[in-house]
Amino acid sequence: MRTGRPLSSPAQKVTSFFSGIIDFFFPPLCCICGKPSEHYPFLCADCLRSCTEFADVPDTALMRREHPADYVACMYYFDPLIQKLVHLLKYRDMPFVGECLGERIGTCFRDKPPAECDILLPVPLHPQRRRERGYNQSACIARGIAKIWKVPMETRLLKRCRNTRSQTKLNREERRENIRGAFQLRKSAKVPERICIVDDVFTTGATTLEIAGLLRKSGAKQLSILTLATPVKDQ
Ligand SMILES: [Zn+2]
Repeated sequence: MRTGRPLSSPAQKVTSFFSGIIDFFFPPLCCICGKPSEHYPFLCADCLRSCTEFADVPDTALMRREHPADYVACMYYFDPLIQKLVHLLKYRDMPFVGECLGERIGTCFRDKPPAECDILLPVPLHPQRRRERGYNQSACIARGIAKIWKVPMETRLLKRCRNTRSQTKLNREERRENIRGAFQLRKSAKVPERICIVDDVFTTGATTLEIAGLLRKSGAKQLSILTLATPVKDQ
């Protein structure tokens, strides 16, 4: 199944002429149902509609429990459809999935407190993981949001200095322990006052909690967490 890619840089626009011709004869197909995908190059309008969006901002005590951020929100419930999109984004070399969904998040949260930020800060990957994947999936999402909000994305403020093991099979306490001390501010980094941290999946919040704590200690005044999806259903 072929899926198209949005083209953005001027050099790529030359290629877009030819890809336009290819798209005419072989339209990009939805990665979920296989129908021509007219909305995004990987997702048709019907499948997009069936993604479970949180109707209201899930800024709840459940997600904010022990979290030092002022505002915590997720765009989608981690249902099988969103799971598949996250899988494509993380393991199938489809960075544009993150950017398109980021634009959707940006549109949805445009008038909400996280949009009043000085920078968007994607959760950094360890350089080794970044090399293996070829890109940081959270930065793809943040790039999409940045387009809508017209706020800069900052990828040099923070670095991941420890390559942590996968959090998938760990419980809340183990996740906190696993991620402790994994991030460092770069030397001479000036921490802006209002920061929106962007991540792909919010499970127990251990990763963003660690980063938010570090930024708070370093002078950040207003912290928001915005993530693509969460398996935490009881909002
Ligand atoms: Zn579809």
